[in-house]
Amino acid sequence: MSDLNPEQQKASEFTDGVCVVIAVPGSGKTRTMMERIGILVNKHGIPPENILGLTFTRNAADEMRHRLVPVLGEMSSRVFLTTIHSFCYTLLRSEGIVFEILSGREQMIFIKEVIKKLKIREVSAGMVLGEISLAKNNLIGCEEFRVMHAGDRTMVRIADIYEAYDREKSARMLMDFDDLLVRTHDMLNNRIDIREKYQEVFCHLLVDEFQDTNPAQMEILKLLIPENRQGSFWCTGDDHQAIFSFTGASVGNIIHFKSIFPDSQQMILHVNYRSTPQILAACQNLIRHNEKQIHKTLKTDNPDGEEVIVLESSSEETEAINLVHEIQTLKESTDYDYQDMAVLYRCNFQSRIIEEVFSQHKIPYHIENGLCFYDRREVKILLDYLRVISSPETDEGDEALAGILNVPNRYIGRKFIGELRSFAAEKQFHLYRALKELPVTLPYIRKNIQALTGFLDPLISEAGHIRPAEAISLVRTSLDIDRYVSEEDMPSPDDVKIQNMDQLLLSAARYDDIRAFLDYAAGFQNESVSDNREGVSLMTIHKAKGLEFPVVFLVGMVEGILPTRRNENIEEERRICFVAISRAMHLLYLSHYMTCLGQAARTSRFLCEILGQETDKKVSA
Ligand code: ATP
Ligand code: MG
Repeated sequence: MSDLNPEQQKASEFTDGVCVVIAVPGSGKTRTMMERIGILVNKHGIPPENILGLTFTRNAADEMRHRLVPVLGEMSSRVFLTTIHSFCYTLLRSEGIVFEILSGREQMIFIKEVIKKLKIREVSAGMVLGEISLAKNNLIGCEEFRVMHAGDRTMVRIADIYEAYDREKSARMLMDFDDLLVRTHDMLNNRIDIREKYQEVFCHLLVDEFQDTNPAQMEILKLLIPENRQGSFWCTGDDHQAIFSFTGASVGNIIHFKSIFPDSQQMILHVNYRSTPQILAACQNLIRHNEKQIHKTLKTDNPDGEEVIVLESSSEETEAINLVHEIQTLKESTDYDYQDMAVLYRCNFQSRIIEEVFSQHKIPYHIENGLCFYDRREVKILLDYLRVISSPETDEGDEALAGILNVPNRYIGRKFIGELRSFAAEKQFHLYRALKELPVTLPYIRKNIQALTGFLDPLISEAGHIRPAEAISLVRTSLDIDRYVSEEDMPSPDDVKIQNMDQLLLSAARYDDIRAFLDYAAGFQNESVSDNREGVSLMTIHKAKGLEFPVVFLVGMVEGILPTRRNENIEEERRICFVAISRAMHLLYLSHYMTCLGQAARTSRFLCEILGQETDKKVSA
């Protein structure tokens, strides 16, 4: 591996104390952090077990572990490299705290119970969880929350829920994700013995992607810093890449680092090793439009490459087809292989069209740490309904029915489904028939089942004539599936689930026949998508943090998508775009389209900003 440059060398050899390395994308922050771990172990004889390396997303943690191997070889697995949440989980468990983690879904059910018990009507569970989560990530306890919001009736009610929610959780030894942070903070803060123990064990603390720390995480880090200065707190980040404000993260932590840690040293890495000058120019053109930033220039000694390429298409669908053409051309005429390429998008739902078109054209792809479109829960629910409607008297129908019996909630538990299955086996019925004939004693369950079969029966008898899109719409509206799925999980910043269901509807609209559409969808559910890193990578920009690819396609550069209409913070949206384009090493494609669902789509302001200076090659659809 090539040597570190003098700036990187200096940063990696920093001795005891506090140090922040602020630097542009691709300047070797992660690389320098890994080399620093190598130096600590090999040169200073620090046992790997005494080093803790933290970051914020799972992909980034995987990347760190991957990159330490060439530096430390076998010893690399002895260094604790992980996300901050998983570190907190381990710490609490090691301190003998017995608890289970509530999944997003369980959390939603739990909070609803609390709201019901308190007889509060004016709030939605999703909103309440959002407020509580934000408070916890800012270490605002329930009492403080109440005082802060005194006079605001709704918020005071939320404070009541907050209190009851926490009380009930502890009574049942449960925690949600945010509790991991809060409880770890409290433990380190209140127990000097425990704090000192961890300060001693992890005498060298390193944090990558530091710009993403929220206040709770920051306080935990502060408590872990060795107080006697025998050891170090070394962190690195780039304020331009702060894109997690929805978790309460604040760019302020890195911008004001010096005032938070007056004795700290600040270092800067200037040279980018990742990208061509053309790609860096695009990055610079974009980010200079942000006011809130530490000014850094992006420069590289890398040789000139291609100009940034703009793909202009008539619609989202032609955009995907154009991608396929470009990918095929690259594959045939260059050395780039599928795994050198990544397609990045702002919102989860955007993957649907790309996946479909890629599958049709046999382009292999994979979605890392994510689910392919047709495997997403909300999409599966609707497909399961279609399956029951189209073939209730088959094994496929049995499986589908079991999947949706309790969606939306009909108070049907696993025990009931077990009884139903035995009854079906005994009578040699398929499940749907068994459901209609099983004697049910509990009146409210009987009522719910009758409502379900009453809804499905007419659809089943019309299944050959009804269009799939119509059936999906009926299921969604009659059973209020939209509300069910939005409340089932953690509130997502993008209303991702509703968008995914809308996408399914669009996809179904091309078919006249339910069966034909189901066969089409089934083609995706086990195809193309693989766990390993083969094929073109498809991921949201947030998941691409810290990664790099020789060829990057950024799709959907239209107003309303990037920037998304759901985020009023344009500077953050611009940073998100910046993260996306700075993943590219050699080739960067920026893609936009002219119409969306028949409406004119406006080109993203970010694309205009990037193109501001140089004129670029245009490839038209
Ligand atoms: P990001 O902000 O996107 O996380 P980063 O600052 O962490 O970027 P790295 O991912 O560590 O940057 O490095 C970018 C690329 O540059 C990697 O491929 C890395 O191996 C390479 N690189 C880093 N330092 C050097 C060097 N001194 N010589 C050659 N290549 C280097
Ligand atoms: Mg990095």
